[in-house]
Amino acid sequence: MVRPFIIFVTTIFLASCGGGDADAPQGASTSSAPPVQQSPSLKPGFSVGRQLADQPDDITGAQVHLMYVLPSDGPDKQLDLGDTIPNSVESANRWLAAQTGGRRLRMDTFGGRVDITFAKLPRTDAQYQAAGSSQRRLIETDLGQMGLLQAGKIYMAYYEGGGKTCANAPLQPENPGFVAVTYLHGTPAGGAPCIQKPFVASSSAAPDYKEFGLLHEVLHTLGAVDKDAPDYFNGHVNNDPSDLMYAGPLTWNPSVLDINRKNYYNPDGLPSNIFNFATSPFLGAAGEEH
Ligand SMILES: [Zn+2]
Repeated sequence: MVRPFIIFVTTIFLASCGGGDADAPQGASTSSAPPVQQSPSLKPGFSVGRQLADQPDDITGAQVHLMYVLPSDGPDKQLDLGDTIPNSVESANRWLAAQTGGRRLRMDTFGGRVDITFAKLPRTDAQYQAAGSSQRRLIETDLGQMGLLQAGKIYMAYYEGGGKTCANAPLQPENPGFVAVTYLHGTPAGGAPCIQKPFVASSSAAPDYKEFGLLHEVLHTLGAVDKDAPDYFNGHVNNDPSDLMYAGPLTWNPSVLDINRKNYYNPDGLPSNIFNFATSPFLGAAGEEH
C-alpha cells in the first residue's frame, strides 16, 4: 500500500534547523581524489543496469533504499551506475560497524549489489530550489506520486541539482518523512560548494563528508536526535563536534557515534522516551551481511 505522502505537503512546519528539515552540518574534511571505478562485488552472472523501479529485495524487513534523481532539466551523470555510490555506502557501513561492534545499516540490495533506483523528477531544478526550506519535502512528495516509495523503507535520494545545503532529512516527529536528500550541487551559505566534497575513492577508504552525511541523514530520518536527549540541540547534539550528529558553533568533524552513549545510541539501553538507534530495525545484527 502506498503511503499518503501528499498529506505532508500541508503539514505545518515547526521550528527546527533548516526551516523544517534537518540540514547537514558544515565543515568536515574533504579529499580531492576523484572517484575510482572498481570491479563490483556482484553475484556471478548478475549484470548491472539502470533501474527505474525498486528491484526485488535480497532481504526482508526494514532497509535503506538509495536513489539517483534528476530534476527535469538536470544533466544525467549516471551516478546510479558504476561503483561510486556502492563504494560510499560500504565505506560508511564499515565505519558504522567499527562503532557498533559489527552492526551495519540494512541496505536494500538486489543481486548482492546496492539497489539504486533512477528517477527523473517532474520539475526543473529552479522549481525545486524555489521551494526553499520545503525543497526536500517537494522531492519526497514527487517521488511518492511517482509510486517509487514503499512502506517500511527509508530513502536517500542523491539529487543532481542545487540546494541550500549539501544534504537534509525529515526531522522527526514534527516534520515527518521517509526521504533524505543529498544535493550534489548544493551551495550552502558560508560553506564550500557541495561538489567539492567528493565521494570516497574506494570501498575500503575511510569515510569522508558524503559518507558521514549519509549516516547523519539516515539517523535523522529514523528519529535522531530525540528532543529529550541530554545534549539535544536543534535536532542534533551539541556536546562534541566529533559526534556524528553534532551541530553547533564548532566545525563538524565526525569520528564517533554518540560519543557518550547517552543521546541516541546505546545497546545497553537509553531512557524509554529517547530514540535509541541501537534498537532500530534498520540497524542489522552483528555479523549480518548487507
Ligand atoms: Zn543534521
